[in-house]
Amino acid sequence: MWIDTHCHLDAHEFGNESVAQAALARAQGVGMIVIPAVETANFAIVAQLAASVDNACYALGIHPIYVPHAEEDHLRVLREQVAAAMADPNFVALGEIGLDFFIPMLTEPAMREKQEFFFREQLKIARDFELPVLMHVRRSQDVVLKHVRQIRPNGGIAHAFNGSAQQAKSYIDLGFKLGFGGAMTFTRALQIRRLAAELPLEAIVLETDAPDISPSWVHPGRNSPDQIPRIGAVLAELRGLTVEEVAAATSVNACAILPRIK
Ligand SMILES: [Zn+2]
Repeated sequence: MWIDTHCHLDAHEFGNESVAQAALARAQGVGMIVIPAVETANFAIVAQLAASVDNACYALGIHPIYVPHAEEDHLRVLREQVAAAMADPNFVALGEIGLDFFIPMLTEPAMREKQEFFFREQLKIARDFELPVLMHVRRSQDVVLKHVRQIRPNGGIAHAFNGSAQQAKSYIDLGFKLGFGGAMTFTRALQIRRLAAELPLEAIVLETDAPDISPSWVHPGRNSPDQIPRIGAVLAELRGLTVEEVAAATSVNACAILPRIK
């Protein structure tokens, strides 16, 4: 069995195919798809989507790219919805949260400050409910690490990991797993491929980030969760393991960091 630890199955790019995409993935052996929320407006949608298929679960959070339009009151809404969702077996994490210092508009001082405020407040919610966090980390590795060190949530995943070996070690030491996906399938992605090959296997989980981060054989087309086995096969090749070994190990890792996955 495979687990896609990060997939925006509710994204508009999937139109009305979200349920069919989950079934396609299921037919390829993807037993679980984790669907992160991005803003309060899609909280109900990700919960409903997870409830309508047998191989998906969801997280609730405010994505850094949605922070410009978010209001402080949305943090209260998030805390309330998380409290209610604790009774829902499909609810597994706080996310997607994080810091994006790549998009120019998000790096302006006031917006940087607003991002860090929303990130810290959401880390506190995760800590209060003992939930793992799904983190978006773009040009912000060390600042994310600083806040995580200060607030100490219950571990989580640094999704689409693209940092250094030292930063990878810092996440691992803080109890985090690192998400690898389509980026690792490009032969020119030397640093990501080296880390995928050399990091402790226990630290690695697989993800598509669908509809984004398409693997090389799909690029620039739309990514989808049924690509996970082929992405996993790339990891197997990089590490000199069998595909079955990679499927088993990455699924164990995903369940260890997201223990609410049944
Ligand atoms: Zn995402």
